Amino acid sequence: MEKTCTLYFVIPCYNEEEVLFEIAKRLSAKLDFLCKQNKISENSRIVFVDDGSHDRTWDIISSFHEKDKRFRGIKLSRNRGHQNALLAGLMSVKDECDAVISMDADLQDDIDASDEMIELWKKGNDIVYGVRGSRKKDGALKRMSARAYYRLLSFMGVEVVYDHADYRLLSKRALDGLAEFKEVNLFLRGIVPMIGYNTAKVTYERGERFAGKSKYPLKKMLKFAWEGISSLSIRPIRMITALGFLIFGVSIIMLSYFLIRHFSGATVPGWTSIAVSVWAIGGLQLLAIGIIGEYIGKMYLETKRRPRYIIEKYLK
Ligand code: UDP
Ligand code: MG
Repeated sequence: MEKTCTLYFVIPCYNEEEVLFEIAKRLSAKLDFLCKQNKISENSRIVFVDDGSHDRTWDIISSFHEKDKRFRGIKLSRNRGHQNALLAGLMSVKDECDAVISMDADLQDDIDASDEMIELWKKGNDIVYGVRGSRKKDGALKRMSARAYYRLLSFMGVEVVYDHADYRLLSKRALDGLAEFKEVNLFLRGIVPMIGYNTAKVTYERGERFAGKSKYPLKKMLKFAWEGISSLSIRPIRMITALGFLIFGVSIIMLSYFLIRHFSGATVPGWTSIAVSVWAIGGLQLLAIGIIGEYIGKMYLETKRRPRYIIEKYLK
């Protein structure tokens, strides 16, 4: 059984020319090591997905493939974002391997943690999550916002694994499960736990980016954070309904109060309270419509069933 386990590494890359040589070197060493130990078969591969990069990323990937056929390259027709690029990689290889490990290109994910992932997979786990041991390398702000975000997600009823990003092992059957999820608005961290099967965690220390800049500027990060909530939870809309009830209740109380004042003869000009409440209610209504609009927008995009990625080339 040992020999037959074919493992693929899948790495989404967007403008990663500065790190590619290093990750290729380390991954091929890892593959050699695992093969020698008979942990994985000779058919194991390393698959880089070029997510529409504008630099030399694709040329570098092609040159790896030229020299060593264990390297493969998938070129997307344009930039589709990390989650779609990762999905493109996973779906392209799922019928050729027994398991996939996905990781970022920038070497923040400790490659050596994959040894333990493989062990746990062989013990019968279909999903093995890479979980960050500590957040020592992060600044205080990043640490706090991450914690607040996980709290918010769980409050919204979204099940995610704490401090796990997209470094994980998925077995063939977990990949088949993932293929059943057809959503266009993709937040893999929220979808993977829905697949089920036996799961396990491996703790690792997440390092700093080896070279180059983060491909997730604040704007993209906030968009991704909102994607996590809005594609997996409808609690924000329920909260609006609850707020509506609450405000309606308050207005009934206010109405009775004003009626009593009126009949007891105290006529108050009341300009301030009216002006304030007009603004408050107006603002709340706009916010509520905005949130509902976000969901309608999502439904609009989902009903179009546009492809999540288009593959231009597959070097294999
Ligand atoms: N990435 C991608 N498409 C994008 C943005 C990022 O494929 O549009 C890849 C990127 O090359 C890297 C991974 O997603 O392999 C994570 O990005 P990054 O390390 O820049 O994010 P951070 O670690 O700063 O959150
Ligand atoms: Mg990174």
